[in-house]
Amino acid sequence: MANQNSCPDSYVTWLQCLACGRHHPPETSFLLCPECGPAGFLSVTYDYPAIRRRWPQSALASSRERGMWRYLPLLPVSPTSAPPPLVVGGTPLYPLPHIARRFGVKELYVKDEGQQPTGSLKDRASAIAVVRACELGVRTIATASTGNAAAALAALCASVQLKAVIFVPKTIPPAKLAQLIALGAHVLMVDGSYDEAFDLCTVACQRFGWYNRNTGLNPYMTEGKKTAALELCEQLGWRVPDLIFVPVGDGCILGGMHKGFADLLQLGWIDRLPRLVGVQSAGSNYLYRAWQAGPGHRVEALAPCTIADSIAVRLPRDPTKALRAVDETGGCFVCVTDEQITTAIKELARLSGVFAEPAAAAAFAGLRACAEDGALRAGETAVLLITGNGLKDTAPLVRSLRREEMPTLVAPRIESIERIFGDGTG
Ligand SMILES: *Cc1c(COP(=O)(O)O)cnc(C)c1O
Ligand SMILES: [Zn+2]
Repeated sequence: MANQNSCPDSYVTWLQCLACGRHHPPETSFLLCPECGPAGFLSVTYDYPAIRRRWPQSALASSRERGMWRYLPLLPVSPTSAPPPLVVGGTPLYPLPHIARRFGVKELYVKDEGQQPTGSLKDRASAIAVVRACELGVRTIATASTGNAAAALAALCASVQLKAVIFVPKTIPPAKLAQLIALGAHVLMVDGSYDEAFDLCTVACQRFGWYNRNTGLNPYMTEGKKTAALELCEQLGWRVPDLIFVPVGDGCILGGMHKGFADLLQLGWIDRLPRLVGVQSAGSNYLYRAWQAGPGHRVEALAPCTIADSIAVRLPRDPTKALRAVDETGGCFVCVTDEQITTAIKELARLSGVFAEPAAAAAFAGLRACAEDGALRAGETAVLLITGNGLKDTAPLVRSLRREEMPTLVAPRIESIERIFGDGTG
């Protein structure tokens, strides 16, 4: 395995094992705590007092950097490393006052990660991966992905001319596969599940010395994803929202959001954590069941069955960070059905103009589920993390359309239009 070397001059102090609490130096060559094995997920820790001294909020406010690199002191890369040229981060946050009232909250926002270069939040993690690989002198990066992490890695690698090797399951949607091929990645379609693709990728990285981008293993990927939380707080003028709805598959995005808020709390830039709501598909809900069962209870890994392919996971790779994210913020997990998801895609698009892929729209379906459960309070501010663009995967939506939602076939004559809209005099 590539030596996960330290990043000189960064503020990283150590990698902390979330299972045993041990500190490992950042130049360690492993991705999991060697004492704890597969449960030894690591978390990147910084010298927060030093950051606080040398990086006042005013310095951030006057930064002309628009994307995720504006938060460089809180990132695990050397300040002298060149960021990749693709602009990652800086996604819009839209207020939706008309929907807020409908759901009984004071304010509602949509963070539209569909605006990233490859159309999903995964670009934030892949941007860190390419900088880390360059720092380590590794020229090939590999990942296992149902599509979005793969596209993100392929694009970020292309932007700095590194090689991307992608292990995808056969169920990958066609638009996502096309994106990978166009971006020049070496695509290996694994005749098996996502879980098998993941394991194969991990072994191949060890065997060939590739940089392993698999989130859930690589603690640095959390650091990329957390920038969505940093950005969100800055966009809200450092006001902390009450609730954030996050679609959850493996749980890395949820863990990343938590890490971002926890870092800001350490710096004293915010004074509390928002409640994180992990939204899972009812057909892929391991974490929901694990959270309901409570610590120490065994939960069965079930084959996923959902249209939301980005959150279709049998056994989440990073249950620790995801469960902590919900527990330590007083949040919860909710489940939504495929039908609720397709309804949410249309409802969100029509109310906001933001077209979300099924997994991303689950966040909105989760808001509705909580509203119907009476879990929202009148004075609260909620944020939907819309993790991916609707153009990524249109088939499930099209399949779900009712007859009256289909386009109207008309003859190319004005009379056929008049039959629908009247004669125009009204
Ligand atoms: C990856 C992804 C998710 C889920 O992220 P996890 O870290 O696996 O929980 C949700 N939505 C979209 C669009 C994604 O690409
Ligand atoms: Zn440990």
